Amino acid sequence: MSELNELYQQVILDHNKNPRNFREIENADRTAEGNNPLCGDQLKLYLRLNGEIIEDISFIGSGCAISKASASMMTQAVKGKSIKEAEKLFEEFHKMVTGKMDVEVEENHLGKLKVFAGVLEFPARVKCASLSWHTLRAALNNEKTASTE
Ligand code: ZN
Repeated sequence: MSELNELYQQVILDHNKNPRNFREIENADRTAEGNNPLCGDQLKLYLRLNGEIIEDISFIGSGCAISKASASMMTQAVKGKSIKEAEKLFEEFHKMVTGKMDVEVEENHLGKLKVFAGVLEFPARVKCASLSWHTLRAALNNEKTASTE
């Protein structure tokens, strides 16, 4: 964490300490479990859909600060969005953390999620930051598990 700049650290630490949408959803339409064995991050995602809209989304689990903060901010980012919009965000997020898009130059919808651009320099952390997104994609594809391996 000391490598990331201070502002990014604050946002990530805040979401790690007080993760948003950190709960189970009873009668969820979709659930999926994500696993990042490299770091030991584990999470379970719950989704309630209303047609094409992600009406509610939540997660539980344990892991490092980056994985937890990323899951917290991912749920905030896609809640109320359509499945298509969420997939678009996943694409942009993935391009950002793998260095295929410069979020300061290219147009994107990432907003606050840009704090994770810093993980690009730390390949092991990319998986921590991406885990919740891979799990979201699994849930939307009706798959039960996602792994970063
Ligand atoms: Zn991790």
